[in-house]
Amino acid sequence: MKKNIKDFTLEELQQCFLEMGEKKFRALQCFAWLQQGVESFHEMTNLSKELRQKLEDTFFVSVPKVKKKQIARDGTIKYLFENHDGTLIETVIMEYKHGISACISTQVGCNMGCRFCASTIGGKERDLTAGEILDQLIFASKDMGRRISNVVLMGIGEPLDNYENVIRFLKNVNQKSGLNIGYRHISLSTCGLVDKIEKLAGEQMPITLSISLHSTNNADRSSIMPVNRKYPIEVLLRTCREYTARTKRRISFEYTLIRGVNDDKPHARELAGLLRGMLCHVNLIPVNAVKETGLKRPTREAVEMFQQELLKNGINATVRRELGTDIDAACGQLRKNNQ
Ligand code: SAH
Repeated sequence: MKKNIKDFTLEELQQCFLEMGEKKFRALQCFAWLQQGVESFHEMTNLSKELRQKLEDTFFVSVPKVKKKQIARDGTIKYLFENHDGTLIETVIMEYKHGISACISTQVGCNMGCRFCASTIGGKERDLTAGEILDQLIFASKDMGRRISNVVLMGIGEPLDNYENVIRFLKNVNQKSGLNIGYRHISLSTCGLVDKIEKLAGEQMPITLSISLHSTNNADRSSIMPVNRKYPIEVLLRTCREYTARTKRRISFEYTLIRGVNDDKPHARELAGLLRGMLCHVNLIPVNAVKETGLKRPTREAVEMFQQELLKNGINATVRRELGTDIDAACGQLRKNNQ
């Protein structure tokens, strides 16, 4: 069976080329073509015909297939991609003042079971490969004819539940000869897989780590996020403190505000108490509609009050801009069967 050449890191590709009796810099040329979105080895015109044939015999080039493209009133774009095995994923492109931001998926579905999130409905079908994660960016960038400046691993899936492939993807997307997206322009969001957060701290990748916290005590958190039964809040926050101590990076905490569940003043104070003294930032997300959950958004006043209470208590907090809601492209609305 031929392997998808985009699943290899640049280093691995260089090794393959050496083993094939080719010069190392040829691997770099090939890598650059792939990231520009070529669909076959024949388009790699600075490689000899013989080499192109050899590559063709050994590897294949994945070509993303768009099943649907939607554009929201605010300009946000959502792609529904079909993988080679027929599975589906979604990718969202948002425009900010500082450039284009892409929200990408890391798995087909998700096994984490968070009550408020559409991506976990029906569970996980499989992990995406490093090449499939990258393809979302290669395709979107080519389709728009614009450079993507920021990437958030906040689409479908739990990135740290697909650790190896995500790390390979991160290495490739950061390459100068590729999409050249700096680690500081990449955010990875996790529901809190503590063992993998510890591992990530050792990778020397200065990305931004985002933690989906959403609750201030274990009883509440376990009732909406099953992962909390394995890694309770105190363990998660201890790991976050260690992560910051090792990486010197500020952590971002996501807190989804759900009306009548976690959106009142005592919750805001409790949250401030939990995070006191940490190098961190809180991103408040009024819960987005997912028809299966029945959860309600807080009023605008409640969101404002919650933010003010955090600020008063010395915790940096912003409210996440809501984009693409009319095409179900906002946080928690992506799903593998949005057809
Ligand atoms: N699995 C990772 C990556 C998903 S990121 C994680 O859990 O962090 C998507 C973010 O949107 C997470 O913070 C998630 O908790 C949040 N989210 C999920 N459903 C939501 C909803 N209905 N409204 C608002 N935010 C939601």
